[in-house]
Amino acid sequence: MTTFIPGDLNDEQLPDVLGQALAGLYSGEPRLPSRPGGRGAAVRALKAYTGKDYAARNDLRGQVSRLSMYLRHGMLSVTEVAEHARGRLRGRDLMEFLRQLTWREYFLLVLAQEGAGVLSNLEAPKSPVRWADALPDDVRSGVTGLPCADAWIGHLIRDGWMHNHERLWFAAYLVHFRRVDWRAGYRFFREHLLDGDVASNALSWQWVAGTFSQKPYFMNQKNIEKYSAGRWCGGCTMSCPFVGEYGQLEERLFGGPVGARVPARGGRQ
Ligand SMILES: Cc1cc2nc3c(=O)[nH]c(=O)nc-3n(C[C@H](O)[C@H](O)[C@H](O)COP(=O)(O)OP(=O)(O)OC[C@H]3O[C@@H](n4cnc5c(N)ncnc54)[C@H](O)[C@@H]3O)c2cc1C
Repeated sequence: MTTFIPGDLNDEQLPDVLGQALAGLYSGEPRLPSRPGGRGAAVRALKAYTGKDYAARNDLRGQVSRLSMYLRHGMLSVTEVAEHARGRLRGRDLMEFLRQLTWREYFLLVLAQEGAGVLSNLEAPKSPVRWADALPDDVRSGVTGLPCADAWIGHLIRDGWMHNHERLWFAAYLVHFRRVDWRAGYRFFREHLLDGDVASNALSWQWVAGTFSQKPYFMNQKNIEKYSAGRWCGGCTMSCPFVGEYGQLEERLFGGPVGARVPARGGRQ
């Protein structure tokens, strides 16, 4: 049955009307996204983006674009985003921005080549691990008790968007610290991310898991504290699973050194 949806709905009417028209295709309560959709909103967001200090994007306070959902849904093309960047960004900021756009394109090429294979381990895990299949309930509800992890999950569920560094931390937390199969995380992201796709999502999870990279990605508490300006660590009273030097954590998580040594940890971040 085709449902007629008037074109002049206002924001208050949208969740109800679209919620009914799309019933059965989503879970939870229908609500507006944290950022407006559509080509007009996408072009406005692109034009407003200056990319100043983008090279420092690993810091959560960095100037990332939040254009991913518009790229994901075809409201912006990668060519026009790259052209905008060439006109507005300079030097290292420009190179870094184009490098990240290239990761997106690369992942799409891998998807074109591998097809549904991207949902299976592309390489054997680099250490003998046993991963649980299901997403633990405390993770699904964002009540792990760790202020940092619960904040990352909150951003995912509430905003439908996470900073790239939060995605990396969360993925490492789930796969290496909680020993859950990366595909459970992939599905959780697809459920909530406004930019959730197959290529960048599955292949990034595999990169963290170490099934599409030289070695698994993981972080320690100092890394989280540094790039979040200590926003969660300061008042945290939990027993922190991330405390330790990298060598110690590697021993604890994997039983010793894993994968090939690469000069800069998380060079891809
Ligand atoms: C576990 C995990 C899952 C991810 N899942 C997705 C996903 O489902 N969809 C998605 O679009 N991105 C995904 N990413 C990549 C990245 O985190 C997001 O693209 C980025 O955070 C989006 O924010 P932004 O638009 O502000 O990015 P910016 O930093 O402003 O970058 C500009 C654009 O470049 C692309 N880009 C930036 N970083 C990456 C990256 N590391 N890998 C691939 N493309 C990148 C995006 O299209 C982004 O909009 C994932 C990363 C991880 C670690």
